[in-house]
Amino acid sequence: MGRLVVVSNRVSVATDRKAQAGGLAVALQDALQQKGGVWFGWSGKVATRPDPEPVIRQDRKVTYATIDLSRKHYAEYYNGFANRALWPLFHYRLDLTAFSKQNYSSYLEVNKLFVGHLLPLLKPDDLIWVHDYHLIPLGQELRQAGIDRPMGFFLHTPFPAMEILTALPSHRAIVQALCAYDLVGFHTENDLRAFLDYIVHEAEGGIMGNHLIRAFGRTLRVEIFPIGIDTEDFEKLGARSAKTKKAALLHNLPSDRTWLIGVDRLDYSKGLVERLRAFERFLERYPDYHGKVTLVQIAPLSRTEVPEYMDIQHELAAEIGQLNGRFADFDWVPINYLNRSFKRDQLVEFYRGSRIGLITPLRDGMNLVAKEYVAAQDSDDPGVLVLSRFAGAARELPEALIVNPFDLDGVADAIRRAMTMPLEERKERWKAMIETLRVNTLTRWRESFLEALGQAPYE
Ligand code: UDP
Repeated sequence: MGRLVVVSNRVSVATDRKAQAGGLAVALQDALQQKGGVWFGWSGKVATRPDPEPVIRQDRKVTYATIDLSRKHYAEYYNGFANRALWPLFHYRLDLTAFSKQNYSSYLEVNKLFVGHLLPLLKPDDLIWVHDYHLIPLGQELRQAGIDRPMGFFLHTPFPAMEILTALPSHRAIVQALCAYDLVGFHTENDLRAFLDYIVHEAEGGIMGNHLIRAFGRTLRVEIFPIGIDTEDFEKLGARSAKTKKAALLHNLPSDRTWLIGVDRLDYSKGLVERLRAFERFLERYPDYHGKVTLVQIAPLSRTEVPEYMDIQHELAAEIGQLNGRFADFDWVPINYLNRSFKRDQLVEFYRGSRIGLITPLRDGMNLVAKEYVAAQDSDDPGVLVLSRFAGAARELPEALIVNPFDLDGVADAIRRAMTMPLEERKERWKAMIETLRVNTLTRWRESFLEALGQAPYE
């Protein structure tokens, strides 16, 4: 089998391995080191000079090639089209979708530019795997440059319903570009169904069975590959964290005091405002819990140059201030808001010490935090996962308490049910979930995608 070429918006260089232990970056790096190959993408930096060139680093069998973005491309391609048009649209937020022709041209331009720099690094028998919404047109550009190697694309976000997608002026070009790949992977049935709906009803395409479709003059395979976590690593970290100082502190709380945990990038798709309101509803309806439960909300800042992210940050701060002001007592605050990011082992301590994982996005491709929370629990006394039906993870974890994040009373009831759930039921639900997570791991996700891609072309 040939080498693997990974193209993604951001590149993780192997030397960062310790920092990302167990994450997606490591899963991809392991595959690259096994097969040899190239990882190409944005360096995360804005260029100080015009016409930046890629920086190439070799680490054993892998070539890392990273390129800076010009200020214009950073504003228009990254912040503009990727994060102000595709991200909100793919998360069903038409109200926040800002389309501009200029940003779209920059998006196409950057994809073309990446291809120009990638071509000299390619070898004739490479397998090419492109990641996420930033780089949808990359495959089509490679095809136009004469590359006929198997190419796969994985979408890490949801794929929106046809009626949402068609609000984007360039929707047809985007879907046509997706069809330039041999294999397109989604997280869930829902995403795949939405894509097929578009293919049949907008693109005059056809479903041929056996995961194959025909559209825009090409045959391609479309399939679901739900991304997993390194379950074993989280289980080990969970067991280890039981012995740390913080864990002792958490466990030595008076027996009637408990924590709920939420961990989310500060993004409007995560349903943070709705979550706070649901928690407020819970405190209104169940005053017995005053003084006894605290919601620890970890929310590192994200995409702060996009105005909608500043708006949500302000809105959240105001909600939390109002809620804490209304309910707090001299020795208790209902919400502990940590506006920064934590390392994986620290997160696991929070997961392990919290009676409830409250994960209620309005829309999420997968939501790895939900899976991490489950994997970090104590098998003899597991916490309860309260999970939004709109997170991709809900498909694999039906044993969580599944909620509709828009239904504040429903979420408040689920919190109360989780608080009072008998140990036997908690154990039963947890056992079913951990068994799923031990099978659907990150390694399995990567291997099944690459195995399917290795079978291309499918005609
Ligand atoms: N995460 C982290 N530190 C933090 C908050 C989050 O390392 O302070 C990690 C978390 O463990 C998870 C990832 O960031 O692996 C978030 O993934 P998820 O799918 O939940 O959401 P995304 O941010 O990709 O939308």
